[in-house]
This record gives sequence, C-alpha cells and structure tokens, in this order.
Amino acid sequence: MSKRDYYEVLGVAQNADEKEIKKAYRRIAMKYHPDRNSDDPKADEKFKEATEAYEVLTDTEKRSAYDRFGHSAVDGSAGGGGFSEGGFSDIFGDVFGDIFGGGRGGRGGRSGPQRGSDLRYTLDVSLEDAVFGKTVEIKVPTLQSCEPCDGTGSKPGTSPKTCDTCGGMGQVRMQQGFFQVQQTCPSCRGRGQTITDPCASCGGQGRVEKTKTLSVKVPPGVDTGDRIRLSGEGEAGPNGGPNGDLFVEISVRQHPIFERDGKHLYCEVPITFSDAALGGELEVPTLEGRVKLKIPEGTQTGKLFRLRGKGVKPVRGGAEGDLLCKVTVETPIELNRHQKELLQQFKESLSEGGKKQSPKQTSWFEGVKNFFDDMKL
Ligand SMILES: [Zn+2]
Ligand SMILES: [Zn+2]
Repeated sequence: MSKRDYYEVLGVAQNADEKEIKKAYRRIAMKYHPDRNSDDPKADEKFKEATEAYEVLTDTEKRSAYDRFGHSAVDGSAGGGGFSEGGFSDIFGDVFGDIFGGGRGGRGGRSGPQRGSDLRYTLDVSLEDAVFGKTVEIKVPTLQSCEPCDGTGSKPGTSPKTCDTCGGMGQVRMQQGFFQVQQTCPSCRGRGQTITDPCASCGGQGRVEKTKTLSVKVPPGVDTGDRIRLSGEGEAGPNGGPNGDLFVEISVRQHPIFERDGKHLYCEVPITFSDAALGGELEVPTLEGRVKLKIPEGTQTGKLFRLRGKGVKPVRGGAEGDLLCKVTVETPIELNRHQKELLQQFKESLSEGGKKQSPKQTSWFEGVKNFFDDMKL
C-alpha cells in the first residue's frame, strides 16, 4: 500500500514549524476523531493517517530521516501515541493515581458512555530541570464534560427521550436483499436516546473545548521520550463516559555547555597551552556548580577526564552517571614581541634536546617515513 506524503496529509509546507504542524494536526484530528465519526469508517483511517504524519513530523530525528529517505525510514516507528488508546509504557505509574476518578473504562459497545480519548502533551524542559526534577504548570486544550448539562447534552431541567427510530436499542435492523443486517441507529448514533432540547453551552455535544491548567511533577532523571501519565486528565468521554488519560512526554532542550547521553554528561573544556604542558588545576562546570579538576603535566588535546558521579541519576534507579570533560588545548593568539621571543627560544630549546617531546608528531613522522619507504618497492 502506498502512503501519502506526510506533509500532504497534514496540508502543511515542507518547512512548516512544529506549531503549524500541531495546529494542522489538531484541526484534522478534531474533524476525523473516531468518537465524532462513529459511522464513518473512512474517518478513522484519515485520523490514523494524520496521527502517524504528526508523530513523525514532530519528532526531529524521525522528521529528518523522513525528509531524506521517505516512508521507509520511519515505517513501523510511528503509532502508539497521539489520541490512540493505551499502548504506552508509562514508567512512573499513576502520578495522580485515580483520585480524579475515571480509570480505564474500556470502549465496549457503541451505545452508552464511552471512555474519553487519551491526550499527549510534549513538555520542553531544561537539562537542569530534567536532572533535578521540577513541578511545572501546563495548559492543555481538551474536551471537558459540559458543566451546565453535566455532560448529558440536554438543556438543564430536560432529559433526553428514548429514540423513536430504534426504540432505545441503539441498533436497527435493515433489509438488504435477502439479508437482514443490524446497524447502528442513524438517528441517535447508537445512544438509544435523542436530545430534544440541546444544552445551549455545548450544543448537545455534552463536551466543550476548554483549556485547563495542570501541575505536572517531573521526577528527577527524566530524559527525552519519557512519559508521565496523568490519569483522568484526558478528554471527557462521550455521553458522560469516564475521562481518558493525559500523557506528558518529556523533551529535554539542548544545553549550552553539556551534552547528555543517557546518564552521562559531556562537556568540552578549553585549556591553555602552558597549562597543558606544565599541568595545573582547572575549574570545570558541573550541574551542581564548579569543581576543581587536576590536569597532569603533558596533557594532550582531546584527553577525556572522568568525574565520577557528576552525571545524571537515572529516573528508573541505578547509580549516577559521570561527567566526561574533553580537554582542548588552545593555541595562544595575539602574542606580543616578548612572548614571541620566548616561544622562539622555547622552540630552539626543543630542537636542541634531541628528545621526543612531541609524542604524536614523532609517531606521525615515522608513519609517513614508513609509508614512503613502502612505496619505493
Ligand atoms: Zn436510535
Ligand atoms: Zn451542555
């Protein structure tokens, strides 16, 4: 089966930013959401197609892979997120437990209350907040149960009446040639009831779009891709059903100094040419402040120094990682005359010694010599 181009699916340009993609996806998801189109199988397909496109295009790595290699680069990696139900490996358990009610009701039959959709929210955090943890307030647009009608969709004081078409069964029998088939009732869409006086606030939907503010506890040690589940904070269920869950997915921002790889941190430390030669003590940054690092005499550029336990304590437990400082020896610039003279003298002293004082250069020259010797054959 050939797939449509993800940008085309969402109707965005190739260079669309994440905001535009989110906006486009949200529009399509609202239109084709399975809960709103229970009798249109094509809608479900469209919804899934858009969800897949959204998941790939909002993931920097997957997007660049897709841009370069097309669908084959990302196939099989999408799915499982978005508004789909379940399938998450949530590592923190229920952050809010079940205190908000809801729980996982299952989707069962067509009629009656259904569990609301799960939502996903991407939370950008700084490296420091990811390492030490933080409580963050987020604003989430979501469908919530309509207050005036208590989610029923009927004008307060009135109640829905039994559907005339199906007599409250939610299903109707239809004759098709020799066969009798059972179908979801077209009048009540399977509810078994019809709303005669729709609620003014929600237009009979029972749910309204609202932005809610939530407090999310980001546990220390999280990394990009980790998910925190907030039970019952997803969309309200249709027909007064239980809420879905909200999954907060962590995305750790790039840090100006540190690079993170799992539980280890890396940073580059420039040192002066004289410190590298003579040895010395440097101040290096860690996430908890500066620490002293001893540099031995004759340190070469590129040398890694390991500061044990100065990395990240993983959220799933286990020992802290390390901080690896990579030393870069800098060539001094803008030398004055005196300094140039000193270096000139220094240079002469090197050739006088006859000792191998440049370890890399010595072996490099030997390599070059061997290379040319071999060529002579
Ligand atoms: Zn009906
Ligand atoms: Zn209402």
